[in-house]
Amino acid sequence: KQLKKHFPIEGGVLKQQVGTVKAVDGVTFTLHKGETFGLVGESGCGKSTTGRMLMRLLEPSEGEVLFNGREMTSLSKNEMRHLRKDIQMVFQDPFASLNPRHTVEKIIEEPLIVHNLGNKAERKKRVKELLEIVGLSSYHAKRYPHQFSGGQRQRIGIARALAVNPKLIIADEPVSALDVSIQAQVLNLLEDLQKELGLTYLFIAHDLGVVRHISDRVGVMYLGRIVEMADSEKLYLDSKHPYTQALLSAVPVPDPEYGKDRIILTGDVPSPSNPPSGCPFHTRCPKAMDVCSSVVPEFREVEPGHYTACHLYEEDHV
Ligand code: SF4
Ligand code: MG
Repeated sequence: KQLKKHFPIEGGVLKQQVGTVKAVDGVTFTLHKGETFGLVGESGCGKSTTGRMLMRLLEPSEGEVLFNGREMTSLSKNEMRHLRKDIQMVFQDPFASLNPRHTVEKIIEEPLIVHNLGNKAERKKRVKELLEIVGLSSYHAKRYPHQFSGGQRQRIGIARALAVNPKLIIADEPVSALDVSIQAQVLNLLEDLQKELGLTYLFIAHDLGVVRHISDRVGVMYLGRIVEMADSEKLYLDSKHPYTQALLSAVPVPDPEYGKDRIILTGDVPSPSNPPSGCPFHTRCPKAMDVCSSVVPEFREVEPGHYTACHLYEEDHV
């Protein structure tokens, strides 16, 4: 709820604060049990920072994170440790997130040790079971991360995340580093696991094409804010925000006719340390009006379950 993460920028010989990067600037959304919520935007839009704040790997500057009705930001370390078991993360680069000196068995067993689950024999049994769940086998247990392909390493990362029976998995660009053919396999695995285990996913990606099929709902982020949020199909078929429309027109489609309507965004993403006044997208928006550079559009429900922050959908705009 109203999550913010502002980082100070220090400068000069005295290292005084010379500015603020508003990495996340007032993000609110709800994750429903058993659903996949896709959080999408260009790099630097604050989507990973948002994911990390949900895990409390980063402390929010402002706002609340509620999990099953409990406010997490005020929990003690001990209470938090318990909740951490329920929320696990899968990272973008499985190679960087797996200790190269540990065997796969040790990597997957580690969260079980951290959370005091089972004796040695039980943990070994659980590791074997997890390897099979993700499509590997106990035959792989004594190997090291470098002996696996990228897709297999991501399976190991998923097995590690599943070890403690989490309820929510935050997957931060879990397939971005993989070849397209392997991406589909890992996405299918995540979908199967969700059905079998009743998992809830927050799926972070920079590419709308990747989240389309896996997500029930999607939130589109720009410069630290969600600018549009809707059911996945609604967002793809009837997007409202000009930024979403531009992102969608960049998704490659087999139909060459489609390319005629491609919207090319000009200009770079503005710096989050010096965001534009009014609508943060006005410097790049093909539909910008006078009001856009001075008045911040409110994030509002424009159709049932479909939210956007854009003056085009305010009745009183002129
Ligand atoms: Fe474009 Fe204006 Fe809508 Fe912002 S508020 S997205 S600048 S039309
Ligand atoms: Mg990121």
